[in-house]
Amino acid sequence: MGLTCHRKMSLHIIIVGAGIAGLSAAVSLRRTGHRVEIYERTSANNEVGAAITVPPNASRFLLEWGLDPVAERFVKADEMAFLDPLTLNTLFAVPQEQNRARYGYDLWLSHRVDLHAWFRRKATAVEGPGTPVVLHLQRAVVRYDPATPSITLADGGVLSADLVVGADGVHSLATEVVLGCKIEPSPSAYYNTCFRFLIPAASLAEDPETRWWHEDEHSRKVSMRIITHNATSRRIVSYPCRE
Ligand SMILES: Cc1cc2nc3c(=O)[nH]c(=O)nc-3n(C[C@H](O)[C@H](O)[C@H](O)COP(=O)(O)OP(=O)(O)OC[C@H]3O[C@@H](n4cnc5c(N)ncnc54)[C@H](O)[C@@H]3O)c2cc1C
Repeated sequence: MGLTCHRKMSLHIIIVGAGIAGLSAAVSLRRTGHRVEIYERTSANNEVGAAITVPPNASRFLLEWGLDPVAERFVKADEMAFLDPLTLNTLFAVPQEQNRARYGYDLWLSHRVDLHAWFRRKATAVEGPGTPVVLHLQRAVVRYDPATPSITLADGGVLSADLVVGADGVHSLATEVVLGCKIEPSPSAYYNTCFRFLIPAASLAEDPETRWWHEDEHSRKVSMRIITHNATSRRIVSYPCRE
């Protein structure tokens, strides 16, 4: 049997949701020559969020895509330190070099708004590779039809494409359509974040009692700190997210 050579096909792809998953799928797909449109229900002009990690398995392809973490004001912590909740002594620390040695890339810390903004710029930029992604804002999707495939917008419009990607977050409408049953999101037993907030670094630096939190005066190390209370499975995770 002979080998058939297929011409590279350019698909028209609809992505639902302009979160980090939707935008990164869009960047990836435009880079491989596809024509991408995103339908996002919000106006996306007032993104919110706090700190988010960009671990080595993400930074390896983001750097390949042209991310300059320093220009985007991402932070590279020197270590990830686990602290005793009662004494605040460091129990053990994982140095940043371990990420590079083990995975070949660094763990970066960023503000979600900065990361999201970079993805959006990268997706819609006129400069290539590929065709700029078209972002349709305030266009909520109310239905997926995988047979066509198509989506139905809140205003009743039906749009079809060669491929539809559901990236509409944890309450995605796509899961029920694809799996054929309702999947309610449930909180995970571990690593479940309840409260998330930002404190300006200047406020921590001003107060002698909290100065150490931002930057250890003795070691000058910038740390991602994890304080775990195993008896109650509670934890505080703290890290700087914008240079
Ligand atoms: C506003 C916001 C702030 C966040 N802040 C942080 C943070 O500070 N730190 C952190 O670690 N994680 C944060 N997260 C979570 C983190 O970004 C996501 O959990 C993770 O990146 C997964 O992203 P996602 O794209 O799958 O889903 P999401 O980030 O939830 O994105 C889904 C997108 O789809 C859109 N959408 C949903 N339903 C529809 C629909 N029917 N039609 C059209 N569009 C739809 C939503 O408006 C949203 O833009 C935040 C998420 C959001 C939405």
